[in-house]
Amino acid sequence: MAGRFDGKVALVTGASSGIGRASALAFAREGARVAVADVAVDGGKETVRLIEDAGGEARFFECDVASSTSVEGLVDGVVEGYGRLDCAHNNAGIEGVLVPIPEYPEEIWDRVLGINLTGVFLCMKYEIPRMLERGGAIVNTASILGLVAFGTASAYNASKHGVIGLTKTAALEYSAQGIRVNAVCPGFIETPMVMDRGVQASTNPEAYQGLTNAHPIGRMGKSEEVVASVVWLCSEEASFVTGHAMTVDGAYTAQ
Ligand code: NAP
Repeated sequence: MAGRFDGKVALVTGASSGIGRASALAFAREGARVAVADVAVDGGKETVRLIEDAGGEARFFECDVASSTSVEGLVDGVVEGYGRLDCAHNNAGIEGVLVPIPEYPEEIWDRVLGINLTGVFLCMKYEIPRMLERGGAIVNTASILGLVAFGTASAYNASKHGVIGLTKTAALEYSAQGIRVNAVCPGFIETPMVMDRGVQASTNPEAYQGLTNAHPIGRMGKSEEVVASVVWLCSEEASFVTGHAMTVDGAYTAQ
Protein backbone atom coordinates (compact mmCIF):
# COMPACT_ATOMS: atom_id res chain seq x y z
CA MET A 1 0.00 0.00 0.00
CA ALA A 2 2.02 2.98 -1.23
CA GLY A 3 0.32 6.34 -1.19
CA ARG A 4 0.14 9.95 -0.16
CA PHE A 5 -0.08 9.04 3.55
CA ASP A 6 2.71 6.48 3.89
CA GLY A 7 4.09 6.61 7.45
CA LYS A 8 1.27 8.86 8.63
CA VAL A 9 -1.49 8.32 11.16
CA ALA A 10 -5.09 9.35 10.48
CA LEU A 11 -7.92 9.51 13.01
CA VAL A 12 -11.52 9.28 11.76
CA THR A 13 -14.57 9.68 14.02
CA GLY A 14 -17.91 8.20 13.08
CA ALA A 15 -15.87 5.59 11.23
CA SER A 16 -18.23 2.66 11.86
CA SER A 17 -20.59 3.67 9.07
CA GLY A 18 -21.22 5.78 6.00
CA ILE A 19 -18.84 8.63 5.18
CA GLY A 20 -16.54 7.86 8.14
CA ARG A 21 -16.06 4.24 7.13
CA ALA A 22 -15.32 5.30 3.55
CA SER A 23 -12.83 7.86 4.89
CA ALA A 24 -11.02 5.30 7.07
CA LEU A 25 -10.79 2.95 4.08
CA ALA A 26 -9.50 5.73 1.81
CA PHE A 27 -6.79 6.88 4.26
CA ALA A 28 -5.69 3.25 4.70
CA ARG A 29 -5.57 2.70 0.93
CA GLU A 30 -3.25 5.72 0.73
CA GLY A 31 -0.87 4.17 3.27
CA ALA A 32 -1.98 5.72 6.60
CA ARG A 33 -2.37 3.76 9.80
CA VAL A 34 -5.94 4.54 10.77
CA ALA A 35 -7.61 5.05 14.15
CA VAL A 36 -11.25 4.07 13.64
CA ALA A 37 -13.31 5.86 16.33
CA ASP A 38 -17.02 5.53 17.00
CA VAL A 39 -19.65 4.74 19.64
CA ALA A 40 -20.80 1.82 17.48
CA VAL A 41 -18.48 -1.06 18.36
CA ASP A 42 -19.58 -3.75 15.90
CA GLY A 43 -19.49 -1.39 12.93
CA GLY A 44 -16.08 -0.09 13.98
CA LYS A 45 -14.64 -3.58 14.17
CA GLU A 46 -16.10 -4.28 10.75
CA THR A 47 -14.36 -1.16 9.37
CA VAL A 48 -11.05 -2.41 10.81
CA ARG A 49 -11.66 -5.84 9.26
CA LEU A 50 -12.35 -4.28 5.84
CA ILE A 51 -9.10 -2.27 6.08
CA GLU A 52 -7.06 -5.29 7.16
CA ASP A 53 -8.57 -7.48 4.46
CA ALA A 54 -7.38 -4.89 1.94
CA GLY A 55 -3.85 -5.04 3.40
CA GLY A 56 -4.02 -1.88 5.52
CA GLU A 57 -3.47 -1.17 9.20
CA ALA A 58 -6.19 0.07 11.57
CA ARG A 59 -7.33 -0.09 15.17
CA PHE A 60 -10.76 0.50 16.70
CA PHE A 61 -11.23 3.03 19.52
CA GLU A 62 -14.60 3.23 21.23
CA CYS A 63 -15.33 6.92 21.74
CA ASP A 64 -18.28 9.22 22.38
CA VAL A 65 -17.26 12.54 20.82
CA ALA A 66 -19.71 14.42 23.06
CA SER A 67 -17.65 13.44 26.12
CA SER A 68 -14.47 15.36 26.92
CA THR A 69 -12.89 12.46 28.84
CA SER A 70 -13.74 10.04 26.06
CA VAL A 71 -12.17 12.26 23.37
CA GLU A 72 -9.09 12.97 25.49
CA GLY A 73 -8.69 9.20 26.01
CA LEU A 74 -9.09 8.59 22.29
CA VAL A 75 -6.41 11.07 21.24
CA ASP A 76 -4.04 9.89 24.01
CA GLY A 77 -4.63 6.29 22.93
CA VAL A 78 -3.92 7.05 19.27
CA VAL A 79 -0.66 8.87 20.04
CA GLU A 80 0.44 6.23 22.57
CA GLY A 81 -0.42 3.42 20.16
CA TYR A 82 0.90 4.87 16.91
CA GLY A 83 3.41 7.46 18.17
CA ARG A 84 1.98 10.39 16.24
CA LEU A 85 -1.14 12.03 14.79
CA ASP A 86 -0.98 13.63 11.34
CA CYS A 87 -4.55 13.85 10.06
CA ALA A 88 -7.96 13.96 11.67
CA HIS A 89 -11.35 13.68 10.04
CA ASN A 90 -13.84 14.83 12.69
CA ASN A 91 -16.93 13.36 11.15
CA ALA A 92 -19.25 11.80 13.77
CA GLY A 93 -22.70 13.32 13.63
CA ILE A 94 -26.42 12.70 14.06
CA GLU A 95 -29.46 14.20 12.40
CA GLY A 96 -31.86 14.72 15.31
CA VAL A 97 -35.55 15.07 14.48
CA LEU A 98 -37.37 17.05 11.81
CA VAL A 99 -39.99 19.30 13.47
CA PRO A 100 -40.55 23.07 13.69
CA ILE A 101 -38.67 25.02 16.36
CA PRO A 102 -41.53 25.32 18.91
CA GLU A 103 -41.89 21.53 18.87
CA TYR A 104 -38.19 20.72 18.88
CA PRO A 105 -37.45 18.69 22.07
CA GLU A 106 -34.74 20.43 24.11
CA GLU A 107 -33.00 17.17 25.02
CA ILE A 108 -32.63 16.33 21.33
CA TRP A 109 -31.37 19.87 20.63
CA ASP A 110 -28.72 19.37 23.33
CA ARG A 111 -27.76 15.94 21.97
CA VAL A 112 -27.40 17.17 18.36
CA LEU A 113 -25.32 20.20 19.40
CA GLY A 114 -23.33 18.03 21.83
CA ILE A 115 -22.28 15.52 19.18
CA ASN A 116 -22.18 17.60 16.00
CA LEU A 117 -20.68 20.85 17.34
CA THR A 118 -19.18 20.30 20.81
CA GLY A 119 -17.87 16.95 19.51
CA VAL A 120 -15.87 18.70 16.78
CA PHE A 121 -14.64 21.31 19.30
CA LEU A 122 -13.49 18.58 21.71
CA CYS A 123 -11.75 16.62 18.95
CA MET A 124 -9.78 19.70 17.83
CA LYS A 125 -9.08 20.71 21.45
CA TYR A 126 -7.21 17.44 22.01
CA GLU A 127 -5.87 16.82 18.48
CA ILE A 128 -4.23 20.21 17.88
CA PRO A 129 -1.67 20.01 20.74
CA ARG A 130 -0.63 16.55 19.48
CA MET A 131 -0.09 17.88 15.94
CA LEU A 132 1.99 20.94 16.83
CA GLU A 133 5.34 19.15 16.76
CA ARG A 134 5.13 17.85 13.16
CA GLY A 135 2.21 19.80 11.73
CA GLY A 136 -1.03 18.25 10.58
CA ALA A 137 -4.32 18.56 8.76
CA ILE A 138 -7.86 18.47 10.08
CA VAL A 139 -11.10 18.15 8.13
CA ASN A 140 -14.42 18.60 9.91
CA THR A 141 -17.59 17.22 8.36
CA ALA A 142 -20.09 20.06 8.12
CA SER A 143 -22.90 19.89 5.54
CA ILE A 144 -24.72 21.90 2.92
CA LEU A 145 -26.88 22.63 5.98
CA GLY A 146 -23.92 24.55 7.36
CA LEU A 147 -24.39 26.96 4.45
CA VAL A 148 -28.14 26.98 3.84
CA ALA A 149 -31.05 25.88 6.02
CA PHE A 150 -33.51 23.01 5.79
CA GLY A 151 -36.86 23.81 7.49
CA THR A 152 -37.56 21.54 10.50
CA ALA A 153 -33.84 20.76 11.03
CA SER A 154 -33.01 23.62 13.43
CA ALA A 155 -30.53 21.79 15.65
CA TYR A 156 -28.77 20.14 12.72
CA ASN A 157 -28.60 23.43 10.75
CA ALA A 158 -27.28 25.32 13.78
CA SER A 159 -24.70 22.64 14.58
CA LYS A 160 -23.35 22.51 11.03
CA HIS A 161 -23.24 26.31 10.65
CA GLY A 162 -21.29 26.20 13.92
CA VAL A 163 -18.86 23.61 12.56
CA ILE A 164 -17.94 25.98 9.73
CA GLY A 165 -17.36 28.86 12.17
CA LEU A 166 -15.27 26.61 14.38
CA THR A 167 -13.25 25.40 11.39
CA LYS A 168 -12.44 28.97 10.34
CA THR A 169 -11.49 29.87 13.92
CA ALA A 170 -9.08 26.94 14.21
CA ALA A 171 -7.56 27.81 10.81
CA LEU A 172 -6.90 31.37 11.98
CA GLU A 173 -5.37 30.14 15.22
CA TYR A 174 -3.12 27.36 13.86
CA SER A 175 -2.38 27.68 10.12
CA ALA A 176 0.83 29.61 10.84
CA GLN A 177 1.89 26.75 13.12
CA GLY A 178 1.58 24.09 10.43
CA ILE A 179 -1.92 22.81 11.08
CA ARG A 180 -4.42 23.32 8.26
CA VAL A 181 -8.11 23.10 9.14
CA ASN A 182 -10.90 22.76 6.59
CA ALA A 183 -14.49 21.53 6.39
CA VAL A 184 -16.42 19.50 3.84
CA CYS A 185 -20.06 20.29 3.12
CA PRO A 186 -21.70 17.24 1.56
CA GLY A 187 -25.10 17.31 -0.11
CA PHE A 188 -27.42 14.38 0.61
CA ILE A 189 -25.28 11.25 0.56
CA GLU A 190 -26.58 7.68 0.35
CA THR A 191 -25.53 6.54 3.84
CA PRO A 192 -27.50 4.89 6.67
CA MET A 193 -28.20 8.39 8.11
CA VAL A 194 -30.32 9.18 5.06
CA MET A 195 -31.39 5.80 3.71
CA ASP A 196 -32.48 4.34 7.07
CA ARG A 197 -35.08 7.12 7.22
CA GLY A 198 -37.00 5.22 4.55
CA VAL A 199 -35.98 7.06 1.41
CA GLN A 200 -34.90 4.01 -0.59
CA ALA A 201 -35.92 4.11 -4.25
CA SER A 202 -37.59 0.71 -3.92
CA THR A 203 -39.72 1.40 -0.83
CA ASN A 204 -40.34 5.17 -1.03
CA PRO A 205 -39.78 6.33 -4.59
CA GLU A 206 -41.36 9.77 -3.98
CA ALA A 207 -39.04 10.66 -1.11
CA TYR A 208 -36.07 9.28 -2.99
CA GLN A 209 -36.98 11.29 -6.09
CA GLY A 210 -37.48 14.43 -3.99
CA LEU A 211 -33.97 14.25 -2.56
CA THR A 212 -32.55 13.35 -5.94
CA ASN A 213 -34.25 16.32 -7.63
CA ALA A 214 -32.89 18.71 -4.98
CA HIS A 215 -29.44 18.21 -6.52
CA PRO A 216 -29.02 19.82 -9.97
CA ILE A 217 -26.61 17.03 -10.87
CA GLY A 218 -29.65 14.71 -10.77
CA ARG A 219 -28.73 12.28 -7.99
CA MET A 220 -27.58 12.00 -4.39
CA GLY A 221 -23.89 11.60 -3.64
CA LYS A 222 -21.80 8.66 -2.53
CA SER A 223 -19.53 8.51 0.52
CA GLU A 224 -16.50 7.89 -1.70
CA GLU A 225 -17.15 11.20 -3.48
CA VAL A 226 -17.03 13.05 -0.16
CA VAL A 227 -13.91 11.36 1.15
CA ALA A 228 -11.98 12.01 -2.06
CA SER A 229 -12.15 15.68 -1.00
CA VAL A 230 -11.34 14.89 2.63
CA VAL A 231 -8.22 12.96 1.66
CA TRP A 232 -7.16 15.68 -0.79
CA LEU A 233 -7.66 18.41 1.84
CA CYS A 234 -5.41 16.43 4.21
CA SER A 235 -2.76 15.85 1.53
CA GLU A 236 0.27 17.95 0.62
CA GLU A 237 -1.51 18.87 -2.63
CA ALA A 238 -3.75 21.13 -0.51
CA SER A 239 -0.81 22.79 1.27
CA PHE A 240 -2.21 26.36 0.78
CA VAL A 241 -5.84 25.44 1.49
CA THR A 242 -7.01 26.22 5.02
CA GLY A 243 -10.10 27.74 6.59
CA HIS A 244 -12.16 26.56 3.63
CA ALA A 245 -15.62 24.98 3.62
CA MET A 246 -15.68 22.80 0.49
CA THR A 247 -19.03 21.81 -0.98
CA VAL A 248 -19.40 18.31 -2.40
CA ASP A 249 -23.05 18.66 -3.27
CA GLY A 250 -23.92 18.22 -6.95
CA ALA A 251 -24.62 22.00 -7.12
CA TYR A 252 -27.29 21.88 -4.33
CA THR A 253 -26.05 25.19 -2.90
CA ALA A 254 -25.50 26.77 -6.33
CA GLN A 255 -29.26 27.24 -6.77
P1 NAP B 1 -23.95 7.50 9.59
O1 NAP B 1 -23.89 6.48 8.52
O2 NAP B 1 -25.10 7.50 10.53
O3 NAP B 1 -22.57 7.42 10.42
C1 NAP B 1 -22.37 8.22 11.55
C2 NAP B 1 -21.57 7.42 12.56
O4 NAP B 1 -21.29 8.28 13.70
C3 NAP B 1 -22.33 6.21 13.09
O5 NAP B 1 -21.50 5.08 13.19
C4 NAP B 1 -22.78 6.70 14.46
O6 NAP B 1 -23.01 5.66 15.38
C5 NAP B 1 -21.57 7.53 14.86
N1 NAP B 1 -21.86 8.37 16.02
C6 NAP B 1 -23.05 8.91 16.40
N2 NAP B 1 -22.91 9.56 17.55
C7 NAP B 1 -21.61 9.45 17.92
C8 NAP B 1 -20.86 9.91 19.04
N3 NAP B 1 -21.44 10.60 20.03
N4 NAP B 1 -19.55 9.62 19.10
C9 NAP B 1 -18.96 8.90 18.12
N5 NAP B 1 -19.61 8.41 17.05
C10 NAP B 1 -20.93 8.70 16.95
O7 NAP B 1 -23.94 8.97 8.99
P2 NAP B 1 -23.16 9.62 7.73
O8 NAP B 1 -24.21 9.97 6.75
O9 NAP B 1 -21.99 8.82 7.34
O10 NAP B 1 -22.73 10.98 8.42
C11 NAP B 1 -21.37 11.28 8.75
C12 NAP B 1 -21.25 12.78 8.89
O11 NAP B 1 -21.60 13.38 7.65
C13 NAP B 1 -22.17 13.40 9.94
O12 NAP B 1 -21.49 14.44 10.60
C14 NAP B 1 -23.31 13.95 9.11
O13 NAP B 1 -23.95 15.02 9.75
C15 NAP B 1 -22.55 14.41 7.88
N6 NAP B 1 -23.35 14.58 6.68
C16 NAP B 1 -24.06 13.55 6.18
C17 NAP B 1 -24.82 13.75 5.02
C18 NAP B 1 -25.66 12.66 4.41
O14 NAP B 1 -26.49 12.99 3.56
N7 NAP B 1 -25.46 11.40 4.77
C19 NAP B 1 -24.82 15.01 4.41
C20 NAP B 1 -24.06 16.03 4.95
C21 NAP B 1 -23.32 15.80 6.11
P3 NAP B 1 -24.56 5.17 15.57
O15 NAP B 1 -24.97 4.58 14.27
O16 NAP B 1 -24.47 4.17 16.70
O17 NAP B 1 -25.33 6.42 15.92
